[in-house]
Amino acid sequence: MVTVVHATTFAPACQNKCASAENFVYGNEHQFSAPAAWSAPALWRSWPQKISGSAEDWYTPKPAGLSAQHPVLALGFSFSHTVCMLIDLSHTIEHGMITYKGLPAPLICDFLSHEASRKLYAPGTEFHIGRIDMVANTGTYLDSPFHRFATGKDLADLPLDSLAGLDAVLVKAPVSGRAISREVFTGLDVAGKAVLVQTNWDRHWRTDAYFEGHPFLTEDAAQFLSEARVKLVGIDSYNIDDTADLRRPVHTILLGNNIPIVEHMTGLTQLPPDRFEFFAVPPKVRSFGTFPVRAFAAVKQHR
Ligand SMILES: [Zn+2]
Repeated sequence: MVTVVHATTFAPACQNKCASAENFVYGNEHQFSAPAAWSAPALWRSWPQKISGSAEDWYTPKPAGLSAQHPVLALGFSFSHTVCMLIDLSHTIEHGMITYKGLPAPLICDFLSHEASRKLYAPGTEFHIGRIDMVANTGTYLDSPFHRFATGKDLADLPLDSLAGLDAVLVKAPVSGRAISREVFTGLDVAGKAVLVQTNWDRHWRTDAYFEGHPFLTEDAAQFLSEARVKLVGIDSYNIDDTADLRRPVHTILLGNNIPIVEHMTGLTQLPPDRFEFFAVPPKVRSFGTFPVRAFAAVKQHR
């Protein structure tokens, strides 16, 4: 008899991401004899991992009554599974909304309204085509190196793997003081990761308080993150730099080292400290340095 491991099911969005050997072995508790109908090769193809082996391979500890060499097959579904919960970390962009003091608010209007479109289509058929006039720095946005450096990578130059599916860590800023220094990051495993800095400044979003006295990273912190080879830095504040420092050292250091920046994030309180992925993908616009993103996190949850 072959025992079928009733293995872990993964949400489609993270099927391969979550299919670690750890989940595979520890994430399932069910075993039973294989119904013939389940030996579907198409299902097995979705597993990059080993799909057959012995009880020794699949069980820790080995169930009583099975020999170590008892043949085991693994199927890609189960009642015990891992899913990705998606957490929105973006502000909503609305007509007339000010993101940054001195920059104009977006103008959002109809290019073609539902009503006006009716004459173009069959009865009962209508469409909306919107029009938006805005500066790049609107809402929750991502800075590419071109924002700071004329010869730096623009939005279209950014590789997807610098913007999506990034292993990420959340770092909480100290409650007191505005300057977030390197000590806040020292000792954390940030190499190759997106580092999201939670200041809770987003509580002031769309109020006058948002524009004055915001938390920011120090030049020294930027130097540390750059040397630690982080992939991206995000913050839920008005500016990652101290706006009183016209050198903008944090932008200069991070973007100078091809580390994109996401500013004006929100909702970071919902995140765990680590074990999540971060996404912030702008459109692929040539000769553009900054653009709004729908920033979000995918948090793995075991059920
Ligand atoms: Zn910026």
